Amino acid sequence: MNVIRAEHISKSYLMGEIEVKALQEASFTIKEGEFVVILGPSGSGKSTLLNIIGGMDQPTTGKVFLYDEEITGYSERQLTQYRRDKVGFVFQFYNIMANLTAEENIELATEISRKPLPVEQVLEAVGLDERKDHFPAQMSGGEQQRVSIARAVAKNPDILLCDEPTGALDYNTGITILALLRKVNREMGKTVIVITHNSDIAYMADRVIKMRSGRIIDDRVNENPMAVE
Ligand code: ADP
Ligand code: ADP
Repeated sequence: MNVIRAEHISKSYLMGEIEVKALQEASFTIKEGEFVVILGPSGSGKSTLLNIIGGMDQPTTGKVFLYDEEITGYSERQLTQYRRDKVGFVFQFYNIMANLTAEENIELATEISRKPLPVEQVLEAVGLDERKDHFPAQMSGGEQQRVSIARAVAKNPDILLCDEPTGALDYNTGITILALLRKVNREMGKTVIVITHNSDIAYMADRVIKMRSGRIIDDRVNENPMAVE
């Protein structure tokens, strides 16, 4: 079953007289349970695409569906609800609350969600039960990213959108974060979309969508995704 269907989405910005085409005629579907990497150099349109899927931005033309429901054309109010209930976000720089502990950060996410998972279950799944009373400043980058993944997962969203989730981490920590995202995908059944400029990350994906200059230039299934542990 398709979770996301994008039909000919384009996004343009006007910079004075000049039209910047951030995204041009992108069409794709994402199936339930897939782990998809969107790969491309800086400026190729990855964030624009992710922001549109995440309901943070609207395309200039084209349509996006979550299951059978069209999200393009949603009002601001509907978009806020969509971001809260349907989408989990993971960012490069974690974006967790500095004045809340790991556990409190996760609790906060469950409070705004309609069908949250139990906080304990999520803390355990991401390997943070021993660090749950720590504040972000007392945690390493990798641990903070675990909190951010836990927060996203705890909402029990339909899709997890990750923007360069290993971009601020050293290589080995990055691997453990990818392994965690894969676990969330395989064991908790979450559909995961990761955007990155790092082609190493693509090897572990079920599917790789490549972008250049606002266009999808390649979209293929990876028959043998590399295992990460
Ligand atoms: P990526 O995530 O692959 O780095 P982006 O989606 O951020 O790419 O950007 C794609 C293109 O759109 C770039 O040329 C970028 O400068 C342009 N762009 C993105 N956001 C804006 C904006 N708010 N205003 C003007 N141009 C933008
Ligand atoms: P509100 O403005 O009512 O707090 P938003 O619509 O901004 O709600 O965000 C709803 C959810 O979407 C948040 O819980 C958050 O996880 C996520 N989100 C959306 N955009 C961002 C962002 N730029 N930074 C962090 N989280 C975001």
